[in-house]
Amino acid sequence: MPAALFVSDLHLCPTRPAIVRLFLDFLADQAMTADALYILGDMFDYWAGDDELADPDDPFAASIAGALKALGDRGTRLFFITGNRDFLAGDGFARATGMTPLEEPHLATIAGVPTLLLHGDTLCSDDTAYQEFRREVRRPAWREAFLARPLPERRAQIAALRARSEQAKLGKSAAIMDVNAGAVAELLRAYGYPRLIHGHTHRPGYHEHLVDTHLCQRWVLGDWYEKGSYLACDERGCATLPLLSTKL
Ligand code: MN
Repeated sequence: MPAALFVSDLHLCPTRPAIVRLFLDFLADQAMTADALYILGDMFDYWAGDDELADPDDPFAASIAGALKALGDRGTRLFFITGNRDFLAGDGFARATGMTPLEEPHLATIAGVPTLLLHGDTLCSDDTAYQEFRREVRRPAWREAFLARPLPERRAQIAALRARSEQAKLGKSAAIMDVNAGAVAELLRAYGYPRLIHGHTHRPGYHEHLVDTHLCQRWVLGDWYEKGSYLACDERGCATLPLLSTKL
C-alpha cells in the first residue's frame, strides 16, 4: 500500500529558492507516488491572506499552489492544517491548491492506525504569552478586521509581529518553547490514545508516552530551514526520511 506522507514547517518564501526547489521536487517525486500528503502547518513563512495568490507583482504563492493542484489532479490526496505562520489560509487557498483543510486536532486513520494530527503550537502550553497571542489572532473578529486591510499593510504588520516574536524568543528558555508533557498526555487521553504526529517545535524526533497504561507514539516533523525531510507512514509503521539536495 502506498504511504501517507507528512511535512510541516517548510517556511517557503521567495528568498529561500533552494528550499522551494526541494519542495517542488518532492511534490513531483515522492509525493507523486504517495496515497496522501498531509501538510501540518507553516508551509509558508507567512500568509497575509488568500489574495497572496492574486498578487500580479508576486507569482510565488500562485506557483506553489499550482504545483500542489497538479499533484492532486494526478491522484495524491492532499490535506492541510494551518500553523501559526499561515493560519490565515482560507477557502481561496484550499481551492487554488486543491487541498482539503482539516480542523486541528484531526483524528485520521493512517494505514489502519488511529493517528492524531496537529500543527503542535497548542502543545507548547508553558509559553503563556504565545498562547494568549494565539487566542487573540484566532478570534473571528480579529481575522475579519485584519483581512479587511490592504495586502501591503498586512504584510508590513506581519513583518513587525515577526520581529517582536524573534526578540521575545531570545528571552524564552528552550524548555518553554517545547511541548508540555502534560498537554500531550491530556490530548492523547481525550482522543483515545492515538498515534500523534505534529511539527512546529523544529525538534524532529520520535517519542513514546505512557498514558494511563497506553504506550503512544509521538512523531515530530522537522523544519525545512537547513534541509528537507518528511515522515512516511504505512502498515509497517512510520519513518523519517531526509531529502537530499545538492543545491543546499
Ligand atoms: Mn509553527
